[in-house]
Amino acid sequence: MKVSRVDTTDKVVFLTIDDGIVKDPRVMEFLLDRRWPATLFLVSGEFKKDPLYFAQILTVGGNISSHTLTHPELKGLGYDEQRRQICGMKGAIETMLGSAGHLFRPPYGSWDDTTLKAAASCGINVVVTWNSELWEGNVDLARRPALQPGDVFLTHFRYDLYDNLLALEARMAAEGFTVANLEDYLPN
Ligand SMILES: [Zn+2]
Repeated sequence: MKVSRVDTTDKVVFLTIDDGIVKDPRVMEFLLDRRWPATLFLVSGEFKKDPLYFAQILTVGGNISSHTLTHPELKGLGYDEQRRQICGMKGAIETMLGSAGHLFRPPYGSWDDTTLKAAASCGINVVVTWNSELWEGNVDLARRPALQPGDVFLTHFRYDLYDNLLALEARMAAEGFTVANLEDYLPN
């Protein structure tokens, strides 16, 4: 299955952070202090540079899942290559950390039916896109007026991430939301 928003009435949103390029210590301190169980969708090269930085999210119930090995656009690629990209990254996380999340985020949000089949072959049954974004300190709800239960936020490990987290915290406080663990709300 593919989800861009979770069907729930709980006043929760989901925070997904992609790629892994900038590893700002303030970001991880913030996530651990607030106990936000973010989902990290990482690529191989950045993950392997500092796996212990990312692994800290596991201590607050977050998870680390595949975002492919090398960030190709998957749509139109053959089954074997999609499988190598998706499952290879899941395997790399398992090798480093002992286990990996069972979610998948396709680079650029680009996927096709082959993506679902390839992901399923290594135990990934949910392809996660998004309906909201955080960038340069902005909470971007795609013109919706307010947070809604089950919103999935995309942001990235870039230099603006700390500001993005502060902006989301303020918005959630104003509207009475918290961050929940995406895996808890999706089928295994
Ligand atoms: Zn990406």
